[in-house]
Amino acid sequence: MAYQVLARKWRPKSFSELVGQTHVLRALINALDEDRLHHAYLFTGTRGVGKTTIARIIAKSLNCEQGVSSTPCGECSACVEIDEGRFVDLIEVDAASRTKVDDTRELLDNVQYAPTRGRYKVYLIDEVHMLSTSSFNALLKTLEEPPPHVKFLLATTDPQKLPATVLSRCLQFNLKQMPPEAIVAHHEHILGAEGIEYETQALKHIARAAEGSMRDSLSLLDQAIAFGHGRVRSDDVVSMLGFISRDHIERILQALAAQNSEQVMQAIAQLAEMAPDFVTVFNELIATLHQMALAKRVAEAVDDSLMDRERLLELAAGFSEEDIQLYYQMAITGKRDLPLLPEPRQGLEMTLLRMLAFRPSEWDGEVDAKKPSAALKPEAPAPQPEPAPVAVASGPPENPAEPEPEPEPEPEPEPEPEPEEVPARSDTAMSWDETVTRLALSPLALQLAKNTRLLSQEGDELVLALSHNLEPLMTPANIEALGQGVSELWARPCRVRVELQSEVQETPALHEEQVHDAEHQALLDSIKRDPFIKDLEDKFQAHVNLDAIRMIEQKP
Ligand SMILES: [Zn+2]
Repeated sequence: MAYQVLARKWRPKSFSELVGQTHVLRALINALDEDRLHHAYLFTGTRGVGKTTIARIIAKSLNCEQGVSSTPCGECSACVEIDEGRFVDLIEVDAASRTKVDDTRELLDNVQYAPTRGRYKVYLIDEVHMLSTSSFNALLKTLEEPPPHVKFLLATTDPQKLPATVLSRCLQFNLKQMPPEAIVAHHEHILGAEGIEYETQALKHIARAAEGSMRDSLSLLDQAIAFGHGRVRSDDVVSMLGFISRDHIERILQALAAQNSEQVMQAIAQLAEMAPDFVTVFNELIATLHQMALAKRVAEAVDDSLMDRERLLELAAGFSEEDIQLYYQMAITGKRDLPLLPEPRQGLEMTLLRMLAFRPSEWDGEVDAKKPSAALKPEAPAPQPEPAPVAVASGPPENPAEPEPEPEPEPEPEPEPEPEEVPARSDTAMSWDETVTRLALSPLALQLAKNTRLLSQEGDELVLALSHNLEPLMTPANIEALGQGVSELWARPCRVRVELQSEVQETPALHEEQVHDAEHQALLDSIKRDPFIKDLEDKFQAHVNLDAIRMIEQKP
């Protein structure tokens, strides 16, 4: 029994068998049924979306012995010959292989002659943009004054390369890529009719690999049937396509969410059994993390293209937004380092170990300040740290779990200077640095405050110096907000005037930076000395990227 490849056997023979492209088909069917077909059509679209198939159906519609209609009989000799690709009045040209002007001229010389067998001569010129300039000119002449018995069907994957003179003489139709669901549905139909067993998941893999081309999808389906000895199974398709199943990536990420190192390594081992291409694995991991990050911010933007939407949202729920951003960066770094490694599986394992070790924050948001890893934080797009809240001295403790000293009923203590309280101290008693620390302002107004130095205060007017390069911060709104903030803090009305100077030193921002630098250096020193890190360096040849280490805000 001769086996006919599915793409050929199941090539649609009528408009009703065509999958997708309904917008184009409706226009063509109407034109055929009302007998007002244009003399030249241009079909654009990527490969395998049905350009040639549509052209052949049009040729049949025009030449069927039963008459011109959108429903050719499919049985007369004209229909049969067209289906078999041997109808003399259907002239198929692949411009990609015939670019010489002579060929085209020879072809177009014959345009004037009446059709040999049918009513119409149909010229199908595929990849028409590949014609040489002189060939275009020859074609154009014909398009300008087409004989009534000729129809031109031009197809191209690259319409931008066509001269406007050609475009303007054609009716243009853009054929869309096949959506994966349409491919899956079509395959199900075919396999059902052929009596071939299949797993739907396998068809989804194929649809994804075909990237919108029905023809490619059918040839992949053929291969899968051969590969699976007459059955289409997901595992076979996965190894045939050399891509990894989403399940594996999902399993790895689930184990990561649970911080279960053992399960992460198990999932990697299972994946490695399939001998995957690890660059692809990293790409899949990166694509999944990207979708998860998207899910966190704009859940509506997430669709089923990568994996089941619900499952993706569920997966994303196991991570904080910050974690996902960090892991995304780690996965990209891991992929970049792959060519340096003797064994690519190592690269995946190290990347996941890194993800497990350097999780920036616990899921409940708690940070244990004693763990050395708690001080490690990559540069994540974290919001500006909130200004330290001013503690309120009165009232019961908000959180009983907080290890705060028990308020013992001791005799009234000496009234010590409580830094938290905001007494009606004189303005001079509070340094500008301290004032700025205590201001509760919008981030921008606070930036203005932090970058100024107090020059003088006379009466209710404060004069502040700001560096020229920071002039954009000097908006009326920011100045107004700063004045109000200081007034409230100092409990007396204040006005703020800002003077621009060349380079302002001794600002709260600069002081903060100095303190931060010193603390940061101390942190780096402590990390270099840390036995856990030393261990990692020895056992895994790990390298601490000191540049990536950032301070995180300590809890007050
Ligand atoms: Zn017919």
